[in-house]
Amino acid sequence: MYDLDNKPPVSATGVKLRGHPVQIVKVEDDHTFQLDEEKLDEILLNPKIEDYKVVVVSVAGAFRKGKSFLLDFFLRYLNAEGSTDWLGDDDAPLEGFSWRGGAERETTGILLWSEPFLSTLPSGEKVAVLLMDTQGAFDSESTVRDCATVFALSTMISSVQVYNLSQNIQEDDLQHLQLFTEYGRLALEANDNESKPFQVLEFLVRDWSYPYDAAYGSNGGIQMLEKRLKISDKQHPELQQIRKHIRSCFCKIGCFLMPHPGLRVATNPHFDGRLKDIEVDFKSQLRELVPMLLGKENLIVKEINGSQITCRELVEYFKAYIKIYQGEELPEPKSMLQATAEANNLAAVSTARSLYIHKMEEICGGDKAYIHPHELEQEHLRCVQNAIETFKSTRKMGGPEFSQSYLDKLRSEMTEQFENFQRHNESKNIFSAARTPAVLFTVMIG
Ligand code: GDP
Ligand code: MG
Repeated sequence: MYDLDNKPPVSATGVKLRGHPVQIVKVEDDHTFQLDEEKLDEILLNPKIEDYKVVVVSVAGAFRKGKSFLLDFFLRYLNAEGSTDWLGDDDAPLEGFSWRGGAERETTGILLWSEPFLSTLPSGEKVAVLLMDTQGAFDSESTVRDCATVFALSTMISSVQVYNLSQNIQEDDLQHLQLFTEYGRLALEANDNESKPFQVLEFLVRDWSYPYDAAYGSNGGIQMLEKRLKISDKQHPELQQIRKHIRSCFCKIGCFLMPHPGLRVATNPHFDGRLKDIEVDFKSQLRELVPMLLGKENLIVKEINGSQITCRELVEYFKAYIKIYQGEELPEPKSMLQATAEANNLAAVSTARSLYIHKMEEICGGDKAYIHPHELEQEHLRCVQNAIETFKSTRKMGGPEFSQSYLDKLRSEMTEQFENFQRHNESKNIFSAARTPAVLFTVMIG
């Protein structure tokens, strides 16, 4: 965990919790979408994590259904770094993403936790885990669209989308999913490798009150989900279509049935999240759910078009995807494809350029000695070649012609960087730096 800000840490589980929620995407009153690029860069372009692959866990769904409340338990788990008593003290108030109170909570949009968590996959690879909260109210025609957009965006950005629902999976819950499964279908058609556009969808049913029909947890959930997603000839074709789309969009779909947390959680205005006020069943299911999503062996790295994505690359996707939604109308699936292709290429430029800079810094960075300009140029050409190969070997959408302009962009950015390196190298040349005083010295003794 990294300290990206100076806010005082709050203590939830004995281990200090650092960070705070940051609104990254905001829906303005006129329903336009704004991305706070500066804050996004601050979180994801932190040099300590930018090169790590990224795991993005998002929680989405209607307003006031306990999403932020749940995310605070995700925070506790990640913060406790594998400790078995991660759920914490009976008396510690729940903190993190703001739930209930707080002035900003009704702004429709997407929030990220300011501190990514480092974790290690079973393979030994280090990854950064990002938590994403979404908010918005489905209370009028236009806000439904805003929410659907938030949902679509958060699904495109995340590797695991938790679809938080109250009491059951209803037909209109599935209909809301349809808005972005349409994109998924087109993306599928355009993809040669037939990879599904999104990764994991986890239906999370809160306040499940039929444990005798289907048990709490994952097994009961999957049993219930199979019933809901079942396709039969008797269904209206539209209902069949929705079900086919949903299945074709996600690599894996799960469902988890959560018990009611108890009346104190649901209705007591003074409830502050402490464990002793929460029903035992709820807590024991939390102990199943949270490690299932965030345990080291269960983490899902973000993939786009079949490639695993780093934090730095994710920034490009964020920027490309938000552009699609800045127009008046709902986006055409084709423009999403275009945006993904652009973002693929921009991400590849960004990775290749950073490789070039790192390699060059090893040769002529701040702490390195002056080297002969000819030698510097040779090294430059070698690093350029290296970076170009990296760019070319990165999987990208849109074809080679489309990639050409991005390759040109990469070349010109490296040339620019090289000029900086040359200037910097020259400033280390003690012979040229000493020339003036040497002349003066001759004059003085002369
Ligand atoms: P969000 O808008 O979906 O992020 O909802 P919040 O996390 O802010 O929670 C809204 C209210 O629901 C709070 O008063 C919580 O105490 C309560 N709450 C949290 N989890 C649950 C749950 O599983 N069931 C019920 N009935 N209420 C919950
Ligand atoms: Mg919330």
